[in-house]
Amino acid sequence: MTEDKQKMSLTKRVLLGMFAGIATGFIIRTFFSDISFVNDYIVHGIFDVGGAIFVASLKMLVVPLIFVSLVCGTSSLKDITTLGRLGGKTVAIYLATTAIAITLAIFTANIFQPGVGADLSAASSFQSSDAPSLGSVIINMFPTNPINSMAQGNTLQIIVFAVLFGIAVSSAGKAGVRIASFFADLNEVIMKLVVMLMNIAPYGVFFLMAKLFTEIGLEAIGNLLGYFLVLSGTLVLHGFVTYGVFFKVFTGLNPLIFLKKMETAITFAFSTASSSATIPVTLETATKHMGVKNKIASFTVPLGATVNMDGTAIMQGVATVFIAQAFNIDLTLGDYAAVILTATLASVGTAGVPGVGLIMLAMVLNQVGLPVEGIAMIMGVDRLLDMIRTAVNITGDSVVTCIVAKSEGEMDVDVFNDPKAGDKEEELHLHTLGGEYSQPDKADSSV
Ligand code: ASP
Repeated sequence: MTEDKQKMSLTKRVLLGMFAGIATGFIIRTFFSDISFVNDYIVHGIFDVGGAIFVASLKMLVVPLIFVSLVCGTSSLKDITTLGRLGGKTVAIYLATTAIAITLAIFTANIFQPGVGADLSAASSFQSSDAPSLGSVIINMFPTNPINSMAQGNTLQIIVFAVLFGIAVSSAGKAGVRIASFFADLNEVIMKLVVMLMNIAPYGVFFLMAKLFTEIGLEAIGNLLGYFLVLSGTLVLHGFVTYGVFFKVFTGLNPLIFLKKMETAITFAFSTASSSATIPVTLETATKHMGVKNKIASFTVPLGATVNMDGTAIMQGVATVFIAQAFNIDLTLGDYAAVILTATLASVGTAGVPGVGLIMLAMVLNQVGLPVEGIAMIMGVDRLLDMIRTAVNITGDSVVTCIVAKSEGEMDVDVFNDPKAGDKEEELHLHTLGGEYSQPDKADSSV
């Protein structure tokens, strides 16, 4: 059939969309930025609307996806002790990788000293907001009204409710079996929605990038080149080296295959700067491309997108040292220990949406008595760095997902090693509507 003709893989199309968007943005910014037609109708018209619709559709899937896949996952667990072990292991590894990330950040920032002699002129007007206490973060995980949690997109509350609901399903006898099979079907349908969305992603990513790169000037980086390079270098180092070593040591699998399979999710994270909006793609990548069973990924991926932010912690580490250097304030060893602890907590409390990491930085600065106005200095270059750190954040979620799955014997290594795994399912055949009944096969029937 002509359909079988060689098509570009989705990953390639999304990457192409990204690079074409970046190039288009640069060209418009350089040559056409004075033309009001281009600004009004193309940049703030087509690009803006197209990008916003794309991000909205991603977000649209997050709540139903987390709830349905997690109910499926939890209800298929054999016993409740598995859940406790899974939760403990996941949270422990998430915290460990974050603490390593921030320690690395403090080291590199001290070696390269990007803040020495930095220009303080921008450091005047930053309004810090109060960071929530750890106690209130924990209390806030428990929903009083799950519908409200869903309406507000409160991921942690949805996770708590879905886990409890799933446990109840698995212990409700015949009624539970019926509900579980309903949720398994619903999960297939929602994953199909994810696939539909991923197929428009190349355009969505193009619009987002084209608008962004028309608007952000790279001049801002000029003054903060040291900060930008140290931070992005540390992010890349953590993304490749720390994760590579962790992945290899704890799963025994090839980290290069892992990274290759992460390309699409990384591109999504990079262009949306939101771990939360990327959840559908991260989950799809983990289950369909890497062979992680849904019962693990449905728990670790949304949890990670909410509490595990290694990239954000790295930014907070480098930024703290940078600001201390710029204001000529010496940090003691005790201060560094406090930075590691608070930045780990701050990154847990950071929502997976653009720019929040910078706001949470105020909490870290307050802790060690540094001026929060320092945040104003680095704001100008934050968007680009936010994109990179979000990519690191979701890569960390996926590394831990694989480690936990492998250790639980819930990872299909053949799927992981198959370079084409999951590709077929990403092809959409809308013209065969209704004709694909036999499809929900190996998609991950073993939820
Ligand atoms: N944008 C980041 C994320 O979604 C959070 C942050 O660091 O601002 O993961």
